[in-house]
Amino acid sequence: MPTLIDQLKAIVGAGGWKTDPTELQPHLTEWRGLVFGATPILVAPKSSKEVSEVVRACAAAGVAIVPQGGNTGLCAGAVPDESGEQVLLSMARMNRIRDLDASNYSMEVEAGCVLADIQRAASAADRYFPLSLGAEGSCQIGGNLATNAGGVNVIRYGTARALVLGLEVVLADGTVLDGLRSLRKDTAGYDLKQLFVGSEGTLGIMTAATLRLFPDPGETATALLALDGSVDAVLLLAKLRASLADRIEAFELVAKRIFDLVEAHIPGAKLPFDEAYPWYVLIETATGGDPELLENALSNAADESLILDAVIAKNATEADNLWRLRHSIAEAERHAGVGLKHDISVPIGRMQEFLIRGEARLAQLMPEAKLLVFGHVGDGNLHYNVALPRTMTPDALQAAGSRITEAIYDLVAEMGGSFSAEHGVGRSKRSYLEKYRGGPEIDLMRRLKKALDPQNILNPGKVI
Ligand code: FAD
Ligand code: ZN
Repeated sequence: MPTLIDQLKAIVGAGGWKTDPTELQPHLTEWRGLVFGATPILVAPKSSKEVSEVVRACAAAGVAIVPQGGNTGLCAGAVPDESGEQVLLSMARMNRIRDLDASNYSMEVEAGCVLADIQRAASAADRYFPLSLGAEGSCQIGGNLATNAGGVNVIRYGTARALVLGLEVVLADGTVLDGLRSLRKDTAGYDLKQLFVGSEGTLGIMTAATLRLFPDPGETATALLALDGSVDAVLLLAKLRASLADRIEAFELVAKRIFDLVEAHIPGAKLPFDEAYPWYVLIETATGGDPELLENALSNAADESLILDAVIAKNATEADNLWRLRHSIAEAERHAGVGLKHDISVPIGRMQEFLIRGEARLAQLMPEAKLLVFGHVGDGNLHYNVALPRTMTPDALQAAGSRITEAIYDLVAEMGGSFSAEHGVGRSKRSYLEKYRGGPEIDLMRRLKKALDPQNILNPGKVI
């Protein structure tokens, strides 16, 4: 290890590494502050060539590497284990936007670019990069692609997977795979880039990506709607989709209990209604030049008493304030110490059934437990979180927590859904991958892992 550390320092040069425990500490704690790791060194290469040299040196020494982006992932995938024997590879210094081709609607960026910087660069060129999530000010595009992040605009633009045209990846032996093409159509062989998207640093280290850009959607309209039941949100979306078609940019469901947490823990956060309602939907649409479009669509739906109340943002500041409420949820939950988190998906057509059966199953298992639900209804993806009574002992909490989580995941599986819709597997959900994707599926995953990383040095102990 000491020889390797000297080699790594020489590769990345002064300013490219950290060994001071105080400086390392934030990189060794996952976002929720529940999982901790150890490392002898953090290296932050500045180029793909340096990443390749770091990987080669680690491979020769048989030492594992944990890639880290903004460390905002929610499954503890970006922190090393407790052994103190894994090298932490930060992508933070690879943060250049290499090229933006407005006519090709594409841009080439290094993996360490912060998502918000990419959105701004696209916007400055009168183009649009639609990936958007609460952590966008600190997460990196490499992390977004490695977790196949979703966020609030999937309903119209798809997940991170749909937004990548090409990738540059450093393989486990240090080979640089240059797949930075910017083609919309390419049927030459297997689509290798998609193998790395969603692989959470276990198959290769992404160093750069060519991203798909879109025309600026132009004027948008944003509204916060109050509803009586979560099922109404599913019915409302089906109705609005028929009239607004693909103009719906976001359709986010939030339970009252969740917004209560936001108001309690986020300074200045305040819902724009005088009274409280059980459920809310934040909707954003492209107006397509018709400023009345959303209002008219909502009036039609209100006629059928699906909407109890609504606030339509009058300007960009009001829209930003509504979005701030939505984007503060994860932070508010962190402050509140929300108990069980489940990031599940079911086929959109079965959302209604899931909401009804899920609530009934929880009430049967533990009537005192409280559902804290929000999510992306249009994607069939809910953050189906559960708060357990604070009076329970830690042992009882753990036992009840496992039972509830299994019951929810079993229901999801029964309905053809997934126990991980957009946060990945990381370290926290490995056993569930084994349980719900066992048999030939996980077997093939293991064969791929072995073929691409025979020494098991890329983020071992994560995913599979
Ligand atoms: P990290 O946390 O650093 O890493 C995540 C994983 O990717 C790790 O396994 C790591 O090893 C690997 N990795 C990182 N960079 C690379 C690379 N260059 N090459 C290979 N592997 C790499 N997710 C959603 O999908 N939708 C949301 O709406 C959403 N909202 C969020 C809101 C908040 C407030 C927070 C804190 C998180 C949210 N997330 C959401 C979680 C989401 O997965 C991450 O925010 C983001 O995608 C991870 O990016 P990151 O750069 O922080 O990656
Ligand atoms: Zn989400």
